[in-house]
Amino acid sequence: MTINATVKEAGFRPASRISSIGVSEILKIGARASAMKREGKPVIILGAGEPDFDTPDHVKEAASQAIRRGETKYTALDGTPELKQAIREKFQRENGIAYELDEVTVATGAKQILFNAMAATVDPGNEVIIPTPYWTSYSDIVQICEGKPVLIACDASSGFRLTAEKLEAAITPRTRWVLLNSPSNPSGAAYGAADYRPLLDVLLKHPHVWLLVDDMYEHIVYDDFDFVTPAQLEPRLKERTLTVNGVSKAYAMTGWRIGYAGGPRELIKAMAVVQSQATSCPSSVSQAASVAALTGPQEFLKERRQSFQRRRDLVVAGLNAIEGLDCRVPEGAFYTFSGCKGMLGRVTPVGKRIETDADFCAYLLEDAHVAVVPGTAFGLSPFFRISYATSEGELKEALTRIAAACARLA
Ligand code: PMP
Repeated sequence: MTINATVKEAGFRPASRISSIGVSEILKIGARASAMKREGKPVIILGAGEPDFDTPDHVKEAASQAIRRGETKYTALDGTPELKQAIREKFQRENGIAYELDEVTVATGAKQILFNAMAATVDPGNEVIIPTPYWTSYSDIVQICEGKPVLIACDASSGFRLTAEKLEAAITPRTRWVLLNSPSNPSGAAYGAADYRPLLDVLLKHPHVWLLVDDMYEHIVYDDFDFVTPAQLEPRLKERTLTVNGVSKAYAMTGWRIGYAGGPRELIKAMAVVQSQATSCPSSVSQAASVAALTGPQEFLKERRQSFQRRRDLVVAGLNAIEGLDCRVPEGAFYTFSGCKGMLGRVTPVGKRIETDADFCAYLLEDAHVAVVPGTAFGLSPFFRISYATSEGELKEALTRIAAACARLA
């Protein structure tokens, strides 16, 4: 019997809650780029969503010490008291928000925080408002939880930010959550106090709508951008706001898998119910390391910010020098989200017409050997995302190649 026949007889069928979710465009491009690399092609991958810095030594040392102290067992369900205390202090110190210990939760990455929150609150048919471009996981997590993502296009003309009018128009009696992300993956756009204010005023009028804010890139902001978060700006919304953050991006700790959040006690409790059956607790060693990250020296963040800012400036200038591309200057994160409308309708040297941003990105990969991600992966076209968390040398080379490939289009 062939394997295919066995599979057919077994009748594998995915659950309907995941059947509409495909493999992400980012992973597909990554796989193609890696395959080309293996064939010996000099591919530059500008797709990864992680800092190229190393985890700081004092954080690694704290992890080693935790192992030597024998902290290698299950911990409290949603975070050790030490880490929860460090998170409370972080929220107080950096954001001026006072959370009690039982208003703080820790999970295996901010991704799991988002999953816990949606699984704990979303019933079938509940609507979750997500401005686009968005980090793909938002809508996929909502769908896995059988909710309905309500996507609102927020293009470059509004600085990729949601406006009060659009928010008001999207709210229905079925709305459960609004998900905001500042600075944003993929656009790099961030909400200042004046950008948030009108949105918070709308939410004050709709007490059934909860707000989840993803502040993962809080520490990666440029030009003295004044980072703020809604629970700090509007205490009246604090009782229905989940403030999500993590150590992955700020402290270059993506592999340690620790994310956290502050929010209303009842929500935090419900999220712990989900977590208790999904994973029991986050890694004990990573939690000890995260205590060191949050309570240790913070000065190096400034240096890293400056390094990212130099690279942002390099990439934005390089892209805007190419006729047909249009790149807004991002306030934060380590991504550019550049318009490529001017490239649509052009024809490649092998006679293929570029119809979409996905076609444009496929062309850049094949012709320039540069891997970038099309806007379609983030719900807004025609754009493409570059992650500039790589060396300046590699970025310069990539920009030169992109410019040459664009010049070859007729
Ligand atoms: N939020 C955003 C906006 C992200 O870009 C990411 C990582 N790509 C996450 C959350 C998840 O981070 P982690 O699970 O590593 O904490």
